[in-house]
Amino acid sequence: MATIRQVTVATHGASEAIAAIRAIVADGRRFLITSHARPDGDAIGSQLALALALQRLGKTVRIVNRDPVPEPFRPFAGAGLVEVAPSVEDDFDALFVMECGDLTRPGVSGLERYRAINIDHHLGNTGFGEVTWFDESAAACAELVADLLDGLGVAWTREIATQLYVGILTDTGSFRHSHISARTFEICRRIAEAGVDAAAVARQVYDSGTTGRLRLMGAVLDHMRLEAGGRLAVLWLDDGMLASAGATYDDTEGLINLPLTAATIRASLMFKRTDATGEVRVSLRSKGDVDVRAVAQRYGGGGHRNAAGFTAPPGVDAVQERIVREVASLVAP
Ligand code: 5GP
Ligand code: MN
Repeated sequence: MATIRQVTVATHGASEAIAAIRAIVADGRRFLITSHARPDGDAIGSQLALALALQRLGKTVRIVNRDPVPEPFRPFAGAGLVEVAPSVEDDFDALFVMECGDLTRPGVSGLERYRAINIDHHLGNTGFGEVTWFDESAAACAELVADLLDGLGVAWTREIATQLYVGILTDTGSFRHSHISARTFEICRRIAEAGVDAAAVARQVYDSGTTGRLRLMGAVLDHMRLEAGGRLAVLWLDDGMLASAGATYDDTEGLINLPLTAATIRASLMFKRTDATGEVRVSLRSKGDVDVRAVAQRYGGGGHRNAAGFTAPPGVDAVQERIVREVASLVAP
């Protein structure tokens, strides 16, 4: 969409950014990589592709995230590099922040002290860091990493290419979301050429779940409410539903996409409540031009036009219906 491209703020053009990063990498020895809390496939894939590449250049790399690697991504090479910690103190020559609009998104403290390289494709990136490479037109942050690897002169091994594919496959919603371009497929062509078995990766990512997850799907769809003349699906989830299905919080990933398989449904909204914190995670998904990011942003979150989210504080119940109405108004016939 032309209008989105116009508001893109590229602090550095791609080649300028890549040159700046190449110089920082050449000068440094120890690097830290982080990404957002509750990492998704693109967060993990982007981090690990970069980490494996830096290792090939002889660099020392640590990855520190607030939350663990989700189960489906654990068998891929490099996943063991991810450390889970609330803060970091070590000395590093630079910090790579993947996929984060600002430095609070990782949820890891102590990051402010490092020379930061900010690589992202989320509209609204604040441009923090010494180098900001922000490209809203990228379908996944992994697309930017692919360019960076070429800039750094690192060959795409099968392990590296697998991580790039995990990022692209998941962030495009299995090649469904907007922003998929010729560049996406060119990168995927090279991924296949590097020896990645795309079908095997997809099986691992999407078909390695538990039967508890399957039962959870049933329960969630059973409680689905349709709004806006059947164009919006609203889903709820709480600890009780997880327990009775024999599922875990990880099993909730992707459930929000289920309603979108119906032709008439244009948007999907999900409220996930966690008793321990009283927090409610709100996830939004949409088709085509329906821009759910705008709603997420009003509540302090963000994301993309077709996939966005935010964390609501305890007491969201009072505004829950207002959120439903706001999304309903986007898809009203
Ligand atoms: P999910 O619904 O899977 O949690 O999030 C979908 C997308 O919305 C994420 O990939 C991310 O881009 C964005 N997102 C989710 N939660 C937040 C948040 O709290 N803040 C911001 N800025 N973006 C979010
Ligand atoms: Mn992404």
